[in-house]
Amino acid sequence: MLDTLKEACGVIGIFNHPDATQLTYLCLKALQHRGQEGAGIVTSDTQNHHIVRGEGLVDQVFNKQKLDTLLGIHAIGHVRYSTKGGKCLENVQPFLFRHHSGDFALCHNGNIVNSDILKNNLEAQGSLFQSTSDTEIMAHLFKKNYTDAQRFEIIKNSLNQLEGAFTFLLLTKKILYAMRDKHGLRPLSLGRLDNGGYIVASETCCFDILNATFIRDIEPGEVIGISLEELHTTHYSQNITHKMCAMEYIYFSRPDSQIESINVHNFRKQCGKVLAQKHPVANADLVIGVPDSSLSAAMGYASESKIPYELGLVKNKYVGRTFIEPTQILREHALKIKLSVVKAIVEGKKLVVVDDSIVRGNTSKNIIKLLRKAGAKEVHFRLASPPFSYPCFYGVDTSTFEELIAAKQSIEDVRKFIEADSLEYLTPDELLETQRTFNNGKSLCLACFTGKYPTKTNF
Ligand code: SF4
Repeated sequence: MLDTLKEACGVIGIFNHPDATQLTYLCLKALQHRGQEGAGIVTSDTQNHHIVRGEGLVDQVFNKQKLDTLLGIHAIGHVRYSTKGGKCLENVQPFLFRHHSGDFALCHNGNIVNSDILKNNLEAQGSLFQSTSDTEIMAHLFKKNYTDAQRFEIIKNSLNQLEGAFTFLLLTKKILYAMRDKHGLRPLSLGRLDNGGYIVASETCCFDILNATFIRDIEPGEVIGISLEELHTTHYSQNITHKMCAMEYIYFSRPDSQIESINVHNFRKQCGKVLAQKHPVANADLVIGVPDSSLSAAMGYASESKIPYELGLVKNKYVGRTFIEPTQILREHALKIKLSVVKAIVEGKKLVVVDDSIVRGNTSKNIIKLLRKAGAKEVHFRLASPPFSYPCFYGVDTSTFEELIAAKQSIEDVRKFIEADSLEYLTPDELLETQRTFNNGKSLCLACFTGKYPTKTNF
């Protein structure tokens, strides 16, 4: 999908490794797809914290000189795409808080749904906020009653006041805490480094690049505290569900990551197979995918339907954001810089085009236009997810109903708008059925497809 759906963030923690800074930096590069607006690392040498953060891509924020200032054996890092709060340096994480009871750093992936109400209460009690990010709320809750002896109880009490989706990493001088919301909406996994240290990351692709061993996923509602002496675990809530964000599988995560024991590429491929079974196209010549996240589903569709899979669209990986958007013709040129049609492949062909989702519909419309200009005879669009009809409140930038084409229009109206010969989506039941074939005993959040949210959303 080249449309406008954006993920909230990626987090990484390294505990007890002499190269903690470099390992964190490499993992941030591996997690770059989860956020491109800002990046940061805070380290601890057990006596002091050190911080570097900035706006932009990981390699725009860090260079050797800056990495050299990050001394220590423990580190947490963050890549950011802004949802709550805005784009500015003060909202780039990790945050570092100075406090007489002990400094600590904090970063977060997700969105706190009741943040406004909590912030108002905290301000009424004298708290001063440095940023407009909802992450800072956790720090204020945490520090309000902090004592070393009761740190787990205080973290648990703080988390119990939060509603929404979160994974937090909190680094004191000597302890790394990792926490996951009680619905398990965002992924967080625990692994072991080759020297015996620990790694905690949003995606297991980080483990692979460091040759770390996967131990397990942090459970919904779990708080882990890692010190040199022990790994202590507890739950802040017994009221847990397993509602992993379906879009982590469909779009956000890397195909080489395992999310709750399911490989993301395999999940997408299975979605493509189910799509082919339930939403076939008769006598098509080729199946093509919209790069990159839809290629696995397109492969699945092709293998199930026995229609050849081909490379009909090529993505230019080195193009960032394009700022040209005033007219349709200029928008088309801008899209062509990002995505090229392989004319020799699509010319004269009846195509099945597999994409993972449609948000506003303009990009799908332009892709179909490009394919027809290149000589495609027919273009049948198949979506490896259900219509995106409801906004997400858990850290995914879908903002409002107005921006979602499927919220306002029927599938037939969307088909007419994007000018496809046919348009069909995976249904929510088919998506759940796909997930059940992997038998991991978990369920999914499908709220942006069904409107059934796992938490209260109106505060
Ligand atoms: S509403 Fe959609 S995007 Fe948001 S967490 Fe649920 S499945 Fe993911």
